[in-house]
Amino acid sequence: MSVDLDAVACYYRIHALAGAPPEAARTAVLRRCLPRFAELFARHGVRATFFVVGQDLDDDAEGRRMLADLARGGHELASHTHTHPYDFVRLGRARIDDEIDRAHAAIAACAGTPPVGFRAPGYEIASDVIDALLARGYRYDSSVFPSATYYGAKALVMAAMRTVGRASGSVLGSPRVLLAPRHPYRPAAAAPYQRGSAAIVELPIAVTPVARLPVIGTSLILAPPWLRRQLVAAALRAPFFNLELHGIDLADADADGMPAALVARQPDLRRPLAHKLAALDDTLAAALAAGARFAPLAEAALAAERGPWA
Ligand SMILES: [Zn+2]
Repeated sequence: MSVDLDAVACYYRIHALAGAPPEAARTAVLRRCLPRFAELFARHGVRATFFVVGQDLDDDAEGRRMLADLARGGHELASHTHTHPYDFVRLGRARIDDEIDRAHAAIAACAGTPPVGFRAPGYEIASDVIDALLARGYRYDSSVFPSATYYGAKALVMAAMRTVGRASGSVLGSPRVLLAPRHPYRPAAAAPYQRGSAAIVELPIAVTPVARLPVIGTSLILAPPWLRRQLVAAALRAPFFNLELHGIDLADADADGMPAALVARQPDLRRPLAHKLAALDDTLAAALAAGARFAPLAEAALAAERGPWA
């Protein structure tokens, strides 16, 4: 289980909303959603990985305290860059290094141990990024999301936004991701969507076999229960199920002060919190019933290095 703690401002950039989020919404992901994940995971005995955006720790002592508590409780804090730029892989090596180093320092100070895992914004990876992670001794990357359904939907939405004169802050990455392995693998340093021998493990985000439907928080929350259970059962048949969630998945739009313009564009924000919690509770119970063992991604990467997956 991993949770990307993208702040509400990230969703403003994706949907090209003007201005900045109101104060309550600005800090809602760390202050309101994160405690709900902590309770959800405690109910099912889950130790998870939280992907932290470094700059969100700068001016939020309450968020820092909560994340430090989670790290002490056996959860992992990993890096999701310092400022979450959607064009991260295109920034050039110097700025890529800077994003990784600043996040690294902020997360290490918060967790008490340096991060060993990384996830790029927008599910895109490149050789520059793998090089930078290798140079810093990172154990794994988990940015690859090899889903044609997701890729196609994103391309359509971005094209539709362009035709009405709105430029999404998001970036459509290389279609090479569609052919990437579904299971943990050692990437080629020069072509990280392919198998190779780099001294790092790629942990792809879960998709179903064959059809490669996305099995992430958003799809589990929006799918009708029968489809959600099918998606989860399909993902549970693999030896490794890398379920990616987002902090905003457990937002309560009204209570957390989510702006109407954002709620209008994010269908998951229109689902009641109780519905979303039930979908995730049901998923974790199904995983336990299937004999799954939950581990932070750093431990999964270690197992992948030794085991048959890599
Ligand atoms: Zn993100």
